[in-house]
Amino acid sequence: MDNPVSVQAIDVQLAARRGAFFRCPHCGKGNLFRSYLKQVDACAVCGEKFGYIRADDGPTWLTVLVVGHVVVALALIAVVSTTWSTWFSVTLFSALAVVMSLAMLPSAKGIFIGIIWAQKLAKADSV
Ligand SMILES: [Zn+2]
Repeated sequence: MDNPVSVQAIDVQLAARRGAFFRCPHCGKGNLFRSYLKQVDACAVCGEKFGYIRADDGPTWLTVLVVGHVVVALALIAVVSTTWSTWFSVTLFSALAVVMSLAMLPSAKGIFIGIIWAQKLAKADSV
């Protein structure tokens, strides 16, 4: 059976990078999302299907991992080196955590979709 994907090298890092920038992991040109976190069913440029891919909790896990480390580090630095009131610090770092999470979540989902897409192709390629 002739499979055009089997002759094409699948670069997981490239697929993840394209997904992080909201682009199709396959061609890098089409949009990966049709709204904030809703992925397209298929790429408008190359036709590759993405509707079946479920990132589940992966993007949330990655976002919390990164944002948590950044915000907690900044909060600890602020506690040691500033005289900000507790209420100001709590408000500032809570707002920062929310903004960073909302900003990072689509990229994290794109990364996971890119990796899952590349891995599924890799599995299909090896069978
Ligand atoms: Zn595409």
